[in-house]
Amino acid sequence: MKKLFIILCLSHTLGYSQSVKYLKYEETIKQVSENLTLRVEKIKDNLYLIEGLGAGMGNIGLFVTDNGLIMIDNSFEIVEDLITSTIREISTKPFKYILNTHHHYDHSDGNRAYGKMNIPIISHINVLKRQKNASETYGGIFKVLEGFEAPPHEENELPTITFSKKITLQEQDEIINVYYFGPGHTDGDSIIKFERANVIHAGDSFIMYGLPFIDLTGGGNIKGFIENLNKIISISNQETIIIPGHGPLSNLEKVKQFRNDLKEYYQKTLEGYNDGLSVQEISNSIKCDLGKTAAFGEANEVKLNFINSILLENNITQ
Ligand SMILES: [Zn+2]
Repeated sequence: MKKLFIILCLSHTLGYSQSVKYLKYEETIKQVSENLTLRVEKIKDNLYLIEGLGAGMGNIGLFVTDNGLIMIDNSFEIVEDLITSTIREISTKPFKYILNTHHHYDHSDGNRAYGKMNIPIISHINVLKRQKNASETYGGIFKVLEGFEAPPHEENELPTITFSKKITLQEQDEIINVYYFGPGHTDGDSIIKFERANVIHAGDSFIMYGLPFIDLTGGGNIKGFIENLNKIISISNQETIIIPGHGPLSNLEKVKQFRNDLKEYYQKTLEGYNDGLSVQEISNSIKCDLGKTAAFGEANEVKLNFINSILLENNITQ
């Protein structure tokens, strides 16, 4: 696999009018504008991964066709110049479509920039609904996200083509299936499969940073998240390359392990609750590696928050 690294840094500081309501949003994008480094990796054929290092940015997928570029997710509006100039190192063709894997700002805040350029944006219908309004995220799993709210998108910064179950794009000899399998990470997650290349962009339905953030406020559901991993497994084989929402390229084996570990969390939480165990005792009973380290916050606390979220989803409060 040929790897091509493009390291570009933004070091300038941008001025912001800070409103209290969107303070966390504005603080985060300011940090992104100051710290983002991009890494480009050729996945196969005309497919590329653009990964943001050190800024919490969602992975961008890029498919280069003779008829133009198809971009999956578009990161933050504030770094649109950096994203576009990085893409221009790969191809000078115009953008044909942008696909949003879901409404979260670390994946599709760039709609605010690319929408204004009249590039068609394809998403699940619920992404459009959520981006029309201010979107709060669930803070239960990661304390850092408590009180986070992204501002609404203007009319010309929204998805323009929406679907409810599945949409298929045909580009030369490639078939791109965009699936919605039901509520999981949010209530509008697309899982995108390039059939001929055998590459899947899973968005945040599969991630590589440990216990997953599941946005219960954004229509997400932990049980559904696990079921969606089963759906990803059902459309994959041993050779499938899986682009996670965050982190390096992955494969079927890792998705299966992640699914198994999350099933252990779910089952042991409900069994433990029925046996009268405390949340800490339930946590002690879970032996898999997932959650032993945490990307955000202290590992034991994140683990307890995740177990509490499973209880909350089942209408159990302790
Ligand atoms: Zn997300």
